[in-house]
Amino acid sequence: MTKTKKIPQRKCIACGKLYDKKDLLRIVNNKELGIVIDETGKLNGRGAYICKDKACLEDVKKNNKLNRVFKQKIDDKLYEEIEAYEIK
Ligand SMILES: [Zn+2]
Repeated sequence: MTKTKKIPQRKCIACGKLYDKKDLLRIVNNKELGIVIDETGKLNGRGAYICKDKACLEDVKKNNKLNRVFKQKIDDKLYEEIEAYEIK
């Protein structure tokens, strides 16, 4: 209500809605680490964002959406980590 400063927004790869960056889970394809969950939001590389809605996390897992985003096979372990991330 006070300021109209623009907050960077990113699109969830599952539902396609825009969210503030801080409300999204960032997955990054980092040169050293490979494809990982970027909890700091500071890792370099191509990123994909998922909102923290359980339905979206499940959708991403069920439809292997990250495989398409990163154009490669994603380890099931990462999908499990993503799912676990939401639960905690
Ligand atoms: Zn979403």
